[in-house]
Amino acid sequence: MTAATDLYERYQRAATAHRQHRASCTNCTDTGRCTAGQRLFETFARLQDAHLNRQRNQRN
Ligand SMILES: [Zn+2]
Repeated sequence: MTAATDLYERYQRAATAHRQHRASCTNCTDTGRCTAGQRLFETFARLQDAHLNRQRNQRN
């Protein structure tokens, strides 16, 4: 597995984890997140940024 694929897989997993948490958690709302939800979101956002940055860099 290449580093790019690994990053994409982790990004997808983080997105799924966050989405599933959001769907099942009663403490997370549209305007606020519980501690676990915030952690999942931050992981997802960080991996998404890294993934998008890599895509941008590959195109240039
Ligand atoms: Zn939550």
